[in-house]
Amino acid sequence: MARTGILIDNRWRTSESGRTIDVLAPATGRPFTQIAAAVDADVDAAVKAARQAVESGAWSRLNAAERGRLLLKMAIVVADHAEELAALEAQDTGKPIRQARNDIVAAARYFEFYGGAADKAHGDTIPFLNGHFATTERVPHGVTAHIIPWNYPAQMFPRSVGPALAMGNAVVMKPAEDACQTPLRMAELMVENGFPEGAINMVTGYGHEAGAALSGHPGIDFISFIGSNETGVQIQTAAARNHIGCTLELGGKSAQIVFADADIEAALPVLVNAIVQHAGQTCSAGSRLLVERSAYDRVVGRVAERFAQVRVGTPEMDLDLGPLVSAKQRDRVTGYCGGADADGIPLIAEGQMADGLPAGGFFVRPRLYGPVPRGNRLASEEVFGPVMAVLPFEDEADAIRLANGTPYGLVAGIWTQDGGRALRVGRKMQVGQVFVNCYGAGGGIELPFGGMKKSGHGREKGFDALKEFSAVRTLVIRH
Ligand code: NAP
Repeated sequence: MARTGILIDNRWRTSESGRTIDVLAPATGRPFTQIAAAVDADVDAAVKAARQAVESGAWSRLNAAERGRLLLKMAIVVADHAEELAALEAQDTGKPIRQARNDIVAAARYFEFYGGAADKAHGDTIPFLNGHFATTERVPHGVTAHIIPWNYPAQMFPRSVGPALAMGNAVVMKPAEDACQTPLRMAELMVENGFPEGAINMVTGYGHEAGAALSGHPGIDFISFIGSNETGVQIQTAAARNHIGCTLELGGKSAQIVFADADIEAALPVLVNAIVQHAGQTCSAGSRLLVERSAYDRVVGRVAERFAQVRVGTPEMDLDLGPLVSAKQRDRVTGYCGGADADGIPLIAEGQMADGLPAGGFFVRPRLYGPVPRGNRLASEEVFGPVMAVLPFEDEADAIRLANGTPYGLVAGIWTQDGGRALRVGRKMQVGQVFVNCYGAGGGIELPFGGMKKSGHGREKGFDALKEFSAVRTLVIRH
């Protein structure tokens, strides 16, 4: 079990509010632990602790290799605690235990990647005027704020704080109230494994309370936000008020484009998994399946067969997907399905519910709808659940128009055996990442990841994250 308090200066405390929030297991709908409901005073104390770690040098005086070593140690510690962390992640988020185990492997890899990268983010020397020597160096922002969602807390935690710490920032994180057990446990492990006071601070609580207090705090130098479009607007507004930068990793309505010449048997498991993984509660879920009309019946027929075999179960049953994270999320998804039914959109296939599911769990049946009319909300709005919209397209130009025809711009998948077409279409996609004959929901740890249009701005993951969590200082010396 993870700690339930707020972590400030390496000490766990209760909230100044005295309030706690019940945390429900999605598979049962019943509370299994409580977290503190942090308020302004808690957030203020956490930000001050982080500032102290920067100004006293407790964190910032460590050189880059020393910071890297602490992060690398965490990669080993997380791997050593893999079963415990995976069980916690599965209970908290509802995902099948196999997916939770994969998330812990990814979490360890984030620590490894950023531990190894900490001393490799160097500046440049720049040819300049005669008699002048010009260099740049990368300097930390100072105190960074991190707000993450509930869908992949085990991965989001090191993905967000890893590069910030590697660059020498002290961090304050507000994880999501619906699922924050693995971030709390990993923070505890960081304290036990040598991170100095104030380097890592955790404030749990409601978004509108703790999250708003953190993003609006004048002591913050940069904000990293992963979450919904609506909250992203509030974060950007708060950042603007304090004249600081932010990265926004927001939602998506990502298209998988299947041309008639695609190897459909190779594509099939990937296409279905891209919407089934964590019950479609993935920012980069492949929630739109665009199929060339000449192959529509053949492709959709095969996808439907596979979709109908998808099974919903508890984390321990370890089937294809688990419950949704909350009653609110379940109602959102069933609302979209009800809307599609009312609009007369044909239901092509449904997944199966396992026998013996707990009565209070937030389970929904995965659904494949199509053909979805282009103007329908199922074709353009993010459902954030296991619901896939199928749309036919006529030719290459139509596919590009359709794929780019939503406000989002996160990921696109292209399935074709024509290399020229893959390149032509790929370079027209208004998205942050394009996959050809493969699809990486969530991208990859080493690859820059982020959105265009309403999917946000800035890049996390890979080396690009190190740039986001630092500023360039130019030094010119006349000699
Ligand atoms: P959300 O409601 O925006 O919540 C995200 C985080 O923001 C949570 O920690 C939440 O706290 C907090 N929050 C809520 N209101 C806030 C406010 N006024 N000020 C500051 N913080 C606030 O998003 P969600 O529904 O949990 O997550 C799903 C969304 O995230 C989807 O749109 C998905 O596509 C997106 N997402 C994007 C990526 C990416 O990398 N692009 C990855 C994963 C998810 P509480 O939950 O505790 O209220």
